[in-house]
Amino acid sequence: MNILVTGGAGYIGSHTAKALAQSGYRPVVIDDLSTGHAHNVKWGPLVRASLSDTAFVRTVLQECQIEAVIHFAGSALVGESARQPLSYFQNNVGGTLSLLQAMLDAGIKDIVFSSTCATYGSPARVPITEGQPQMPLNPYGDSKLSIERVIEWMGVAGQLRWVALRYFNAAGADPEGELGEEHEHETHLIPLAIGAALKQRESLQIFGTDYPTPDGTAIRDYVHVTDLASAHVSALQYLSRGGENLALNLGTGKGASVLEVLEMVQLVGRQRVPATAVPRRAGDPPILVGDPQRARRILHWEPSHSALGAIVECAWRWHSRSQAQVHINLVTQS
Ligand code: UDP
Repeated sequence: MNILVTGGAGYIGSHTAKALAQSGYRPVVIDDLSTGHAHNVKWGPLVRASLSDTAFVRTVLQECQIEAVIHFAGSALVGESARQPLSYFQNNVGGTLSLLQAMLDAGIKDIVFSSTCATYGSPARVPITEGQPQMPLNPYGDSKLSIERVIEWMGVAGQLRWVALRYFNAAGADPEGELGEEHEHETHLIPLAIGAALKQRESLQIFGTDYPTPDGTAIRDYVHVTDLASAHVSALQYLSRGGENLALNLGTGKGASVLEVLEMVQLVGRQRVPATAVPRRAGDPPILVGDPQRARRILHWEPSHSALGAIVECAWRWHSRSQAQVHINLVTQS
């Protein structure tokens, strides 16, 4: 069964392509490589293209005999979205509308959509359940919510069958070391903390120490990327069994503060993380923790790799391996 994976050269998309291949599917990746990497596409063909070319996407869907779509492609940085709202709506919503039109034209109905906990904004209660109000605080979250709405209405019209997966904080790396987090402009806490510990980067900035949390730093629900990947495969299988359209949180139900993450990085890496406190980052809510019960019940999903120590260990191995690789390359060149 051929599955189109948009954004399959990126972080979560590439881990999902691997999980698909391990479950007997053939992932066909479409990616414009604006942030993804061709070397992450190892389990099926890579089509380098933008989703905004509807006619081309339709041709890919037809010629590759695609049966369902997993849609990751999009821009995903909260801070950047606050500075460039138009480009976030153009890329995320515009790209998705084009993809959906191509699916409609090609008669493909099943879609698993990569959504986000940023659609909830600053929740009144944690852990967050799927029925809580969605009031995004930044253009990134709002662009993803707009997509959820389009998909939902197309579902009502009988044009799509969908699962929206609202991820909490994707983290970690492939336990077999084949893939990891590789952003050109890294903004995420765990790789930045590891980079600071390995002296590959400047000292870490702690964004806000005056949050209403036990240690004053923001709390997030970190989920191992391998657990996210397996949820996509389960969602696809759920749709092919005729499951109803729905949104599911992919969180663990437990949060960790920025300081707790730093302590874990120091423990795992046995290196100090140089850090300084700075003011809060715009658009960051104090606490985001997801209730995974619906995903557990419906997909039988267990975030079994997502203990904070396990996440940091995989990420540490990945980033320190990259450092070893750079060192080897430099030695070979000199
Ligand atoms: N964070 C931080 N310093 C950094 C990067 C992130 O203190 O250099 C904090 C950020 O404010 C948030 C948490 O770490 O509370 C996770 O941020 P990240 O960017 O990893 O993910 P996001 O929650 O934005 O998706």
